Amino acid sequence: MKDFRNKVVVITGAGSGIGRAVALAFAREGARLHLSDIVPERIEKVAQEIRSLGAEATPYVVDSSDREAVAKFAEDVYANAGRVDVLHNNAGIGVGAPLQKHTLEDWEKVLAVNLWGVIYGVHFFLPKMIAQGGGGHIVNTASGAGLCGLPGLAAYTTSKFAVVGLSETMSLELARYGIYVTALCPGIIATNITKDSKVELYDEQGQNLRAKVDEFYMRFGSGPEAVAKDVLRAIRRRRPVQPSPLHMYPLWIIKRVSVRLYQALARLAGKSLLGS
Ligand code: NAD
Repeated sequence: MKDFRNKVVVITGAGSGIGRAVALAFAREGARLHLSDIVPERIEKVAQEIRSLGAEATPYVVDSSDREAVAKFAEDVYANAGRVDVLHNNAGIGVGAPLQKHTLEDWEKVLAVNLWGVIYGVHFFLPKMIAQGGGGHIVNTASGAGLCGLPGLAAYTTSKFAVVGLSETMSLELARYGIYVTALCPGIIATNITKDSKVELYDEQGQNLRAKVDEFYMRFGSGPEAVAKDVLRAIRRRRPVQPSPLHMYPLWIIKRVSVRLYQALARLAGKSLLGS
């Protein structure tokens, strides 16, 4: 797909950060947006922003981890738009904590949104995309943490590796329907995710690291607009995996060359988060 004019684009978790930036990028290309988020004010505001650009946007309040809600979302989008050209399963949350401090509720919540949210999106939209005659693109937001394990993010990393695996299988299975698939793997991006996530990481003085993590992301993270550009490029070029933006490539390449070297570097980074 090269031209997004009048294409129907569905994005989950579009009320903030990467989802919002991707929605705005598609709007500027003349796409018709169907956007969901769990927070009503966020998604309403983004839909208004898009309309003020002269593009079409329909907001939906949907919890991506709720099976029935996603089933209804797919029904509603098809009732309103008749087809879907791009599905971007993007909603996600984080939990930062040493493995032994992850509660089972943390695991369940992160996997419910980050993995089951993607599975539900695929499960309820894909048959309709095939039935409409095939064609289109599915982007699943994974993470750099879906390519390289990270200390302090056990549940998150687990969910994102799973999304990369699912996306690769989808990519292999769905090309026969003209549906292409991208696992989007962002690096450090300045969004609301650090504010909205549970952080159970402490420095040597016992201070919670939430504020520091947030400050680090805001100061050194790339803007979500850079990721949005990469999403559109990945669709145009049918890329199965899209690390984004450029700062994500060195880690990925190092890990592919030497897992030991990658782990030595990741352990060093982990020391400041988990203590030595
Ligand atoms: P964000 O918090 O700015 O945006 C996420 C949006 O998802 C929010 O609007 C939130 O309300 C919504 N959301 C949360 N739970 C939801 C649910 N159950 N159902 C529907 N919507 C829900 O964060 P972001 O950084 O833009 O995150 C988007 C995606 O990018 C996530 O999957 C995240 O894991 C991934 N990601 C982010 C980074 C980063 O550094 N920010 C890096 C790699 C991957």
